[in-house]
Amino acid sequence: MELGIKDRVAIVAASSRGLGKAVAHSLLKEGTNVVICSRSIDNLKKAEEELKSIGTGSVFALVCDVTKIDDLKFIVNETLRRFQRIDILVNNAGGPPAGMFLEFSREEWNKAIELNLISTINLTREVLPYMIKNRWGRIVNITSVAAKQPINGLILSNTSRAGILGFSKSLANEVAKYNILVNCVCPGYTLTERVKELTKEISSRNNTSEEEVYNSWIKDIPLGRLANPSEFADVVTFLCSERASYITGSVLQIDGGLIKSII
Ligand code: NAD
Repeated sequence: MELGIKDRVAIVAASSRGLGKAVAHSLLKEGTNVVICSRSIDNLKKAEEELKSIGTGSVFALVCDVTKIDDLKFIVNETLRRFQRIDILVNNAGGPPAGMFLEFSREEWNKAIELNLISTINLTREVLPYMIKNRWGRIVNITSVAAKQPINGLILSNTSRAGILGFSKSLANEVAKYNILVNCVCPGYTLTERVKELTKEISSRNNTSEEEVYNSWIKDIPLGRLANPSEFADVVTFLCSERASYITGSVLQIDGGLIKSII
């Protein structure tokens, strides 16, 4: 299937590694031009080096903290300067810390909401006028299975990501008339660097093997394994494509069957 996004221009937030980088890779394979960003210039340069030979589009790396409004304005302005348009936005950020409700201060709550929900709203606000101008746009917000089925001990993530679902559905209704589609994806356990680090941390904290940690997750996953980042990224790329033209306001879990509910 030809996805029809060759020469389109995408910004993928928080993309020096993990799910964001995998999405950048998948979009590049389709000939899309991709702007990647993260806070650390070193990690970003490494990712740019890795990605630059993929596909026919170019990769453009920009330092940006998605919680800083000036940084968001910077990446939007630089993208326009380089490519004169923005067609695709994939919102993403790091995850907030684990813990229970009473363990977090007001400041920690604000920080978590800023990191996931507000960064998504702010970057969307900066990009949307350019999509409206071209009467074409794709916005995909990366959340988590926690947005649909709260995970014990991850109350910050459960809360801020559920907020993104409400934002996306409302925005999808508002901007459909401009041919701009807004969707959310909910990754389940996906084998990124972060998940590998987390596995090591849990295994040394609990004095168990890494295999036992993986098995504790896999037992609840009908497909019986974690996802590869590319399996997640290819679904996001489809939602960013011309072929997804009748999908908006949806929430798609990419979780190997982990979420137990029907809807
Ligand atoms: P990761 O830690 O491997 O990658 C996160 C990326 O975000 C990195 O490039 C990092 O530099 C960048 N980043 C973090 N904070 C940033 C900021 N303030 N500004 C700019 N860039 C920033 O994580 P991942 O596994 O790729 O996960 C990505 C998101 O998806 C996270 O929010 C995570 O909680 C969520 N998620 C991941 C999984 C999974 O299994 N991997 C499952 C559910 C949800």
